[in-house]
Amino acid sequence: MKPKKIIIIGSTGSIGEQTLNFIYNNEFFDLYNIVGLSTKTQDALLERQCEYFQVKNAHVFEKKKAEIFQKANPKLKTYSGKEGLTQIIEDLDFDILVNAVSGTAGIEPTLTAIKKGKDVALANKESLVSKGIEIMKICKKTGARILPIDSEHSAIWQCLRGENKKEIKKIILTCSGGPFRNGIKWPLEKLAKIKPQEALNHPNWTMGKKISIDSATLMNKALEIIEAARLFEIDPDKIEVVIHPQSMIHSAVQFQDGLIKTQMGTADMRPIIAFALSHPERFKLPFPELELLEIKEGLTFEKVDSERFPSIAFARRALKLGEDMCAKLNQANEEAVEDFLAKKIGFLDIFEHIKKIF
Ligand code: MG
Repeated sequence: MKPKKIIIIGSTGSIGEQTLNFIYNNEFFDLYNIVGLSTKTQDALLERQCEYFQVKNAHVFEKKKAEIFQKANPKLKTYSGKEGLTQIIEDLDFDILVNAVSGTAGIEPTLTAIKKGKDVALANKESLVSKGIEIMKICKKTGARILPIDSEHSAIWQCLRGENKKEIKKIILTCSGGPFRNGIKWPLEKLAKIKPQEALNHPNWTMGKKISIDSATLMNKALEIIEAARLFEIDPDKIEVVIHPQSMIHSAVQFQDGLIKTQMGTADMRPIIAFALSHPERFKLPFPELELLEIKEGLTFEKVDSERFPSIAFARRALKLGEDMCAKLNQANEEAVEDFLAKKIGFLDIFEHIKKIF
């Protein structure tokens, strides 16, 4: 098999590193040829990645760091800035773009790749949230595909393999509930005083900062409803959110005959990344696997507490109002998370800031 040519943007972040970790395994090393890597600020790590994977093209978002990087690595072609991130995708010949950039900055690269007819293994959910309708339209025109690197959407995608979309009754999007799920332990008065450090501690998954805060506010799930509605082109009323604190059922689909298909696994993104990059094949992977007999406590399910967490309602409202409102919702959330992390606003102010868009 000819190796698949891959660009990974956001390669020094959590998903980027896990993608490289999967490819790093000897068995997969020859299957992928990494042609470009990109970072926002972590130039030292990027340098190591480029050296190890013999990558010839790099992108460093910060211009000054990019200049230093280019001087230190004269054999590499270094791109920089916002324009550089689309330019590297325009210039290089590749099969799959792994988009692991966090936030709105990841939208333009997705559009650039699919316009070229190239597949995007997408971890940047903001792309589908803000421009999902446009993205799916372009994909139909150019034949590009969106391969989800989001545990829920990958699960739904896997459940839908071989199924007729018309027979879906509902999509069941599971949600861990985040670190403040327990309403007795975390009443509104206490939520108001939460510090960024507490919110960054996710009970099950290790993730980047933005998505960790989004998981604590359940805005992550709100964005994922929009993401699912766009990716699977399904009526949002057919998407149900269910809290499942053990995060073992990654999501499920119920069909019109009442039967439910789920996909289960450990809280490890690497098999999910691997599936996006190996689809339609499945590889034999060296990562820890879920053993049903080792599950000590039962799997439980709960409703979302919409009084403490208005996020899901925000997403449903934005979806009714159209794509522009979904983009505004994403933007407002991004601003609020940034301010919360900078300790400029409190945890509950995130919701207050988002509310203003309606
Ligand atoms: Mg997810």
